[in-house]
Amino acid sequence: MQLSRRWICRPRRSPLLAALAALVLAVTATASTGRLSTGPQTAGPAALARSTALGPCMISGTMGVQMSEGVPTPPGYARSTGPVRALNLMIDFSDAPGEGRATDRLGEFFPQTQEWFRTASYGRMDYQPHAPVKDWLRMPRPFSSYGIERGAPFDPGYRELVQDIVEKADPEVDFSTYDLVNILITPNAGPSALDTVLSVTFAGNHEAPVADGVPVSNASFVYSRQDDGSGSYRETGFRVLPHENGHVFGLPDLYTSDGGGAVGHWDIMSEDWGANNDLLGWHKWKLGWLDDDQISCASDPGTTDHLLGPLATPGGTKLAFIPLDEQTGYAVEVRTRGGNDDAVCKPGVLIYRVDADVDTGHGPVTVSDSTRDSGGCTRRPNVHAELSDATYVPGQSFVDPDKDIRISVVSATDDTYRVRVTRS
Ligand SMILES: [Zn+2]
Repeated sequence: MQLSRRWICRPRRSPLLAALAALVLAVTATASTGRLSTGPQTAGPAALARSTALGPCMISGTMGVQMSEGVPTPPGYARSTGPVRALNLMIDFSDAPGEGRATDRLGEFFPQTQEWFRTASYGRMDYQPHAPVKDWLRMPRPFSSYGIERGAPFDPGYRELVQDIVEKADPEVDFSTYDLVNILITPNAGPSALDTVLSVTFAGNHEAPVADGVPVSNASFVYSRQDDGSGSYRETGFRVLPHENGHVFGLPDLYTSDGGGAVGHWDIMSEDWGANNDLLGWHKWKLGWLDDDQISCASDPGTTDHLLGPLATPGGTKLAFIPLDEQTGYAVEVRTRGGNDDAVCKPGVLIYRVDADVDTGHGPVTVSDSTRDSGGCTRRPNVHAELSDATYVPGQSFVDPDKDIRISVVSATDDTYRVRVTRS
């Protein structure tokens, strides 16, 4: 099996278009009215209040990075806290007619997706799925005519598909009342996800067709079924949707052309097949699910101790961050089995490098493996094994000799870990 081809679902905009879109946003933000356009008056990620004390930890990318790990997330993406209204449309084609009921297709993703977001966000995101059209929406042209394939850009195929979807749904749907759109395509259109993953998200795309006065700018398309044949599809097959929606909220892909070897199963933006998993603490802060007082910013020289509780449980300090410069830093968090994390086989302290200047799909996050070439502690299907035991336990240290940084796990009591950071 060609695992590395499975996770190709990155949002596709050229760097040039991204820069243009940002400019357009700056000019038109005050005139926007609908929810799909996240100007200053909507509660998008950029509207989150940030403590100035954390300034050195708010790394950001430079121009030209189309989707960055930087904090805050730029405007244009969907809001990630409070009520999030998701429009779901199930579509089929004359050459791929829907098999079974459209609402059964919807049922492959709900209620699990909203539960996933509720758990991951500690209740801060109230994901509200809506499906005002209960039947398959039949597209006016056959699937084969849109030229949809892996890596297909928005133009012309997706633009034409979105135009047709809007035309068909518009009589029954007020697009201006939704924060994001999920297009759930009949699974018999296109190749099996085992061969080629077509699922894709176009995020912050203000060049998209307009419906009810707002551009359909944050839209996820889900194809086929991510069924690994292990019999767990009903439990885990929905996970492609929270991954795709992660892009809608501004999160980049963490897998690379080599697969999930940079982050493993520690974030759903790295691996969305197999056992349930969570998001990195960095992503939870970026999305506004962790408060600033839950982040411990180790920017000053010297030695500091940080008491970190498990990421899966709400409340308390969750993330220590050691900025290296204005674009990069090391993040430190505690991962245990709990919440959405079903596959954790070695609880402990996860240490990873975040680089806001590295684009989506090129490795913006790299997990440091405390036990290189160990083979890992799990054999679960579609879980990157080698990094499954990457966590650090009491007595172990991570050292970056070039930057003169040492991160040591001093002790652990009831899942609370004392981490000591020494930097010059
Ligand atoms: Zn993706």
